Amino acid sequence: PQPVLAVVGRPNVGKSTLVNRIIGRRQAVVEDIPGVTRDRVAYDANWAGRKFTVVDTGGWEPDAKDRAAAIAAQAEAAIAAADVVLFVVDSSIGATDEDAAAVKMLRRSSKPVLLVANKADNQNMEYEVHALWSLGLGQPWPVSALHGRGSGDLLDAVLAAF
Ligand code: GDP
Ligand code: MG
Repeated sequence: PQPVLAVVGRPNVGKSTLVNRIIGRRQAVVEDIPGVTRDRVAYDANWAGRKFTVVDTGGWEPDAKDRAAAIAAQAEAAIAAADVVLFVVDSSIGATDEDAAAVKMLRRSSKPVLLVANKADNQNMEYEVHALWSLGLGQPWPVSALHGRGSGDLLDAVLAAF
């Protein structure tokens, strides 16, 4: 079986856009409305000749209720089934309390986690990206899922972590 990469994070940080970037086609549902991805969706991906599965998830939120709780539970199930997790944050907003809560949940999973500093569309985001070291997940990987910046380096790191 091929290795599995789960993509998790708060609503609207750009998870589905990143998944589209990774699979190289527009397929994952991207919306301006937070939380539009309702479930776990798996796609085949290939980087540098290595095949793997990438799983898009809905937004993970702490203390979620009702529908949001079901979406968060799906994200946690995706983490449990993954070999490596991409934890995506919005570097234009910075680390939020919800992000910190997600880090605690990720630590409990004991999975290898790479921190994606998404929406780092240009070099001017260096300060914001550096601030994400505070999350305690090690190096933040600056990425613009929208424009492709940094995605190759990130995927090299993913393959190394499988
Ligand atoms: P998700 O809820 O985490 O899956 O987020 P989406 O992928 O649906 O993206 C939410 C919004 O953020 C959309 O309007 C995207 O176009 C936008 N977005 C995603 N990635 C980037 C990025 O790298 N830079 C910028 N500027 N916007 C982005
Ligand atoms: Mg989505």
